[in-house]
Amino acid sequence: MTIELTGRQEEILGIVKDSGPITGEKIAEKLSLTRATLRPDLAILTMAGFLDARPRVGYFYTGKTGSQLLTEKVKKLTVQDYQSIPIVVNESSSVYDAICTMFLEDVGTLFVVDKNAYLTGILSRKDLLRASIGKQDLESMPVSIIMTRMPNITVCEKDDLVIEVANKLIEKQIDALPVVKKKDSANHLEVVGRITKTNITKVLVDLSHDQLL
Ligand code: ADP
Repeated sequence: MTIELTGRQEEILGIVKDSGPITGEKIAEKLSLTRATLRPDLAILTMAGFLDARPRVGYFYTGKTGSQLLTEKVKKLTVQDYQSIPIVVNESSSVYDAICTMFLEDVGTLFVVDKNAYLTGILSRKDLLRASIGKQDLESMPVSIIMTRMPNITVCEKDDLVIEVANKLIEKQIDALPVVKKKDSANHLEVVGRITKTNITKVLVDLSHDQLL
């Protein structure tokens, strides 16, 4: 989406604001340019949402500012465009193995699954640190006794909005959500992705590079 408009695009916008609805032909006349020269600018302004065009009526100003259009765009981003690969451990794995997996896979949250690969729990860095404070034997302690378990897990699906996920992360004060797919009527959830604060940060970076998906 183009937020920084060129001088000519600003001029076109001004003309349409003052005299719209107005045909491309008339705008070209006012600028002493040909219709063909203006075509790319009109296409950009229309695609970005500043202008709208109606057949036989012409161009009119939508009244939306750059930041309103940006907000609209951000509110349309979905989880599937920003999710990462999920890292899972089995619920019978030891806390020791989970710690190793967290380091090897370089993630901050692990999802725990049962033998059918259905989501049963979640492990954060602090869950594992807490378990490591005492003198317990981490190699014989299964993750199932320290994980946060279903149904207390906040999840999302691939078609959910990124902004909804961001809200949940803040509201629940957590770092990540599993992206799940409902498997059958028994509320079984298959883990298909992971969305974290890092993925959300990428939205901001893409935004600054004018590269929103
Ligand atoms: P950390 O504990 O390392 O600060 P989080 O803030 O993500 O990481 O986790 C805080 C607590 O919330 C942990 O006990 C963790 O098990 C739990 N938790 C993490 N993610 C979720 C989630 N999506 N749904 C429910 N609980 C979660």
